[in-house]
Amino acid sequence: MKSFWTNYHSHSHYCDGVESPEAQVQAALRQGVAVFGFSTHCPVPFVNLWSMKQDRLDGYLAETRALKQKYADQIELYVGLEIDYIPGLCGPSDYVPQLDFTIGSVHYLGLNWDGNPWEIDGATAGFVKGLVEVHGGDIRSVIQQYYGLIRRMVREDRPDIVGHLDKIKIHNTNNSLFDEQSDWYLAEVEKTLEAMAEAGCIVEVNTRGVYKKGLETYPSVAILERMRAKGIPVMINSDSHGPAEITLAFAETARQLQQVGYKTVRVFIRNEWRDVPFDEYGLRTL
Ligand SMILES: [Zn+2]
Ligand SMILES: [Zn+2]
Repeated sequence: MKSFWTNYHSHSHYCDGVESPEAQVQAALRQGVAVFGFSTHCPVPFVNLWSMKQDRLDGYLAETRALKQKYADQIELYVGLEIDYIPGLCGPSDYVPQLDFTIGSVHYLGLNWDGNPWEIDGATAGFVKGLVEVHGGDIRSVIQQYYGLIRRMVREDRPDIVGHLDKIKIHNTNNSLFDEQSDWYLAEVEKTLEAMAEAGCIVEVNTRGVYKKGLETYPSVAILERMRAKGIPVMINSDSHGPAEITLAFAETARQLQQVGYKTVRVFIRNEWRDVPFDEYGLRTL
């Protein structure tokens, strides 16, 4: 069988992506994608600039489910959400009954200077403002709280897929805020990986930082090596926000995963989670 790609992390005009879900499907087909998952940002109970509004949720579910039927003979489509884990406000289990799969992501950490949820993967200016004004500049404490929240998510509100594990490094260009090789940082990562292994979550290898910012994947290769040693399953996702981004940086990421020692990716295919062999040209079903 011909090689094919999968991507379960995609955004459309229902949130901060561009173009319709159907435009994503048609682009996915052109890019050799055989299995595609919709994962709009779930609604959150406060105002932000990038989540789907609550009153669009039913329309999103209806439209993507209809596409699943319409394209059934061309591509496998699955309906998911990228769900914010904010204890007491929202988490993956809120949406499980309506979805084929869930991605759980931490985009908010505690409260900001205004008493609103502190967005930690937006602009660096807002991150630094919260770091200084709320946390007295203690980056180590913030990073430990960030990984602590991810551990709490996988233990208490387990998603199928953990989104962009070390995304907080987006603010750490050239190790400007902390050293990603330092003992305390790696110890925090290690504890988090142990929680993932125990919970049986898939950790996505998210290429968005590669094609948008020239960073490594989320998570970085050093973390992928530790994940491989623990047998934590992975999948390659692009976190696309438009049709042109659906498979960006997939070939190089697949090569990197092979170098780390991964031989299979875990994907939802024919309505089941399966471990499928891959190489730089894509996945091959057994
Ligand atoms: Zn995200
Ligand atoms: Zn996303």
